[in-house]
Amino acid sequence: MKTIVIDPGHGGTDSGATSQGYFEKNFNLSIASKVRDFLFENYEVKIVMTRGNDTTVSLQARSDLANAQNADFFLSIHNNAGGGTGFESFIFNGTVSTITHTYQDVIHNQIINAIASKYNVTNRGKKRANFHVLRETRMPALLLEVLFVDNNRDLSLLRNNTFINDVSIAIGQGVARALNLSVKTSPDGLFKVIAGSFTERKNAEDRVEYLSQRKISSFIVPTTISGVQYYRVQAGAFASRENAELQVEALKAAGITDAYIISDTVSPPTPPPPTPEERFTIQGVSLLNAFQLDHFVKTVNPNAPLLGEHYIKYGAIYGVRGDVAYAQAMHETDYFRFTGLVDKNQNNFAGIGATGPGNPGATFKTPEEGVHAHIQHLFAYSSKQNIPPGYEKVDPRFDLVTRGSATTWTQLNGKWAVPGTTYGQSIISLFKRNATYTIGQIEKQVEDLQNLLKEIE
Ligand SMILES: [Zn+2]
Repeated sequence: MKTIVIDPGHGGTDSGATSQGYFEKNFNLSIASKVRDFLFENYEVKIVMTRGNDTTVSLQARSDLANAQNADFFLSIHNNAGGGTGFESFIFNGTVSTITHTYQDVIHNQIINAIASKYNVTNRGKKRANFHVLRETRMPALLLEVLFVDNNRDLSLLRNNTFINDVSIAIGQGVARALNLSVKTSPDGLFKVIAGSFTERKNAEDRVEYLSQRKISSFIVPTTISGVQYYRVQAGAFASRENAELQVEALKAAGITDAYIISDTVSPPTPPPPTPEERFTIQGVSLLNAFQLDHFVKTVNPNAPLLGEHYIKYGAIYGVRGDVAYAQAMHETDYFRFTGLVDKNQNNFAGIGATGPGNPGATFKTPEEGVHAHIQHLFAYSSKQNIPPGYEKVDPRFDLVTRGSATTWTQLNGKWAVPGTTYGQSIISLFKRNATYTIGQIEKQVEDLQNLLKEIE
């Protein structure tokens, strides 16, 4: 994150220029504070102030602070005197980096664009001078002379909160643009308090003025909503909604009843719609029959046990797709060759409780009980209902399952198999192979039957 040192000129015993009882130091601080708030509330940036109140700080202390901070940019804010009018900016008149020139160009232009025609402010130009804070700081440094305190028209602008608001935002926007600051977001979003939103800029300016009289800092943020230009008056931005709500209360107490909170919460990207595979449910009716399951597995492992009947039976009892559960068993047991952790004699066809070497998981008395436990375990994941009456709890891990936490096969990813990001997909893929193989068998059977019928007609 970039660090910017903001330096409100003068302060404490050093008033800077004075005129008609007004002190330059106070104008400097009010602009600098608004620039700080604007940047802090809207951009990812670290801001360090050389002074945050009316205290005396030496020039050496200012440049030392910036150098110690290893800041990316030093911005000094002053107002002018001596019988002129208008805005000017300065960089060091010795050797400076190209980037210093760029920063001056971008920030100076941003400010002039915001105030020159609107307030009829003279552009006195981009200048260079041998000022301490420009010379002694080791990073790009810029000094602004906003207006002349000893010029009546300039002074009336400095006493106008709308002008202070506009010039401060323009400075902040110029800095953000010059340094390419990233717009602020936080995981919880940023809660901005809007103290009124207006289609007329004048009304927004009146609101800022009203708040200013009540010591509430705010600024105008132009926003386009559905093609309509609005001027929002932003009175603070908070990382927590609670604090934003406190500010809304404070605004209510100050007579602003239409304040509201907008959240910059970064909404998570909309997940893509689930694929047909991801919608494929665990619960459902088996479409393959027992013979078709056993027949398919024997094309891969001729010695596979005949379990199709149990899968279809218990699948029907629990409302689970027994034919797909069978594919899961083929996947878990390597087509009942048991080449993994689980031994053939455990009758554990779904790796229930098998976590790693030395822990091969549960053992069941018979193949039928093993299949029952498998289907029951799927039932635990895919349903919140009780085990059907008349059936015992044979799955030793039934109560460890968060009931209903996986209703589709792909939702078993990371649950039945860890990490297993493609576990459900592998099961479905095997089921598809079984189904495709079976369709081929049926088609052949239909053809054979048709041929036979022709023969005996
Ligand atoms: Zn000054």
